[in-house]
Amino acid sequence: WLGAGLLIGGCFAFLVIRSARYRLSIEGELEAAIRRREIAVQYQPIVELATRRCVGAEALARWHHRGTAISPDIFIELAERHGLIQSITDLVLDRVIAELGGFLRSHPDCYVSINVSAVDLTSRRFLDYLGQRLNGTGIEPAQIRIEATERGFVDAQAAVQVIQAFREAGHPVYIDDFGTGYSSLSYLQTLPVDALKIDKSFVDTIGYEAASSSVAPHIIGLAQTLGLDVVAEGVEHEEQAAYLYESGARFAQGWLFSPALSAEAFMRFVEAGPPG
Ligand code: C2E
Ligand code: CA
Ligand code: CA
Ligand code: CA
Repeated sequence: WLGAGLLIGGCFAFLVIRSARYRLSIEGELEAAIRRREIAVQYQPIVELATRRCVGAEALARWHHRGTAISPDIFIELAERHGLIQSITDLVLDRVIAELGGFLRSHPDCYVSINVSAVDLTSRRFLDYLGQRLNGTGIEPAQIRIEATERGFVDAQAAVQVIQAFREAGHPVYIDDFGTGYSSLSYLQTLPVDALKIDKSFVDTIGYEAASSSVAPHIIGLAQTLGLDVVAEGVEHEEQAAYLYESGARFAQGWLFSPALSAEAFMRFVEAGPPG
């Protein structure tokens, strides 16, 4: 009996210590933050290069932990590793609807794009959630767009079907960070998407390298051949905007136009209209 008692006691102590350790770990803290709905969202304006008119925004998750902002590059990766990313995707959508639902209804040309992760592309789960949440809000499907990275195409067959399903439901799909993944060209012909987002790394080099070695115009040309829109990201300088526009890119986002904003500031940004 003593042996059994010690064994049960030991198991109990082990479980208590393990759950305490989980709670104190960074992934435990992230899980608690998600449960308490402490993940915030900021909106980075996307502008039409020709007019500088704001056409929409990208929703970017934010986590303030014990007074410091943790970079999404860190906590998104953490969430992906610990099975928490789907909760974040859902939370971001909930926030978009809560914070910008009325605004989107009164601005039917304005859209918000949401980043989805690899697991969100393996099944219809998020698409079904999205459908339920939009039901009765008056927000058009085209006002919620999907950003999928090439890293998300681990199960390419499933991803193609899920992407097709998003588009059939009326949600345009963008390939995010285009050119930084693998096999970009081979799948593009069969992959049904609406636009490519040119990664910041290809925008950064504009103006610093000989124009002939710049990759951005080639991506834009490829997009045009395939009939896809282009959004350039991370545009910080006027000369980058000019070069991208002359190369045929229609849309861009970056600090030149605006950093990511609170919902209130984003709505004011749209209402203010283009500068000048
Ligand atoms: P991303 O999708 O490539 O998002 C663009 C990142 O570039 C954002 O960083 C944005 O703040 C930053 N950025 C925009 N314009 C400029 C600029 O002109 N200069 C510079 N230096 N940076 C600029 P952020 O917010 O730190 O997000 C980092 C990454 O985290 C995102 O990269 C995205 O992959 C991921 N992420 C953010 N929110 C979510 C989310 O809700 N779900 C998922 N799955 N991933 C997210
Ligand atoms: Ca993105
Ligand atoms: Ca991106
Ligand atoms: Ca990027």
